[in-house]
Order: sequence, then C-alpha cells, then structure tokens
Amino acid sequence: MSNKRFKDAVCRTWLKKETKNKAEKDGKTYYFCSPACKEKFEKDMEKYLKLAG
Ligand SMILES: [Zn+2]
Repeated sequence: MSNKRFKDAVCRTWLKKETKNKAEKDGKTYYFCSPACKEKFEKDMEKYLKLAG
C-alpha cells in the first residue's frame, strides 16, 4: 500500500506520489512538484525545513 503523500516544502503543494524532483537532507528525501522548487530548496534548505516544521 502506498498511501503516502509528499509535501513540496517550497510551494506547499501536496504531491500524490514521488517525483523525479527530489532532494536528500539528513537521510530524508524531499519531493518537489518541479525542478524550480527543488532548486529553491537546495539553495536555502534551512529556511524551507524550518517552514516545513
Ligand atoms: Zn513546488
């Protein structure tokens, strides 16, 4: 069963499934709706992780 949903930490969109746009941080994988969001996240991880709380 894969009922997991992933939240794009940058634009706060819920993703229904894993996407190719992902980044890893501290052993966790984060998914994004687009390469643009992924880029933003990677540039400013601390900020977005705080927001994602
Ligand atoms: Zn996004």
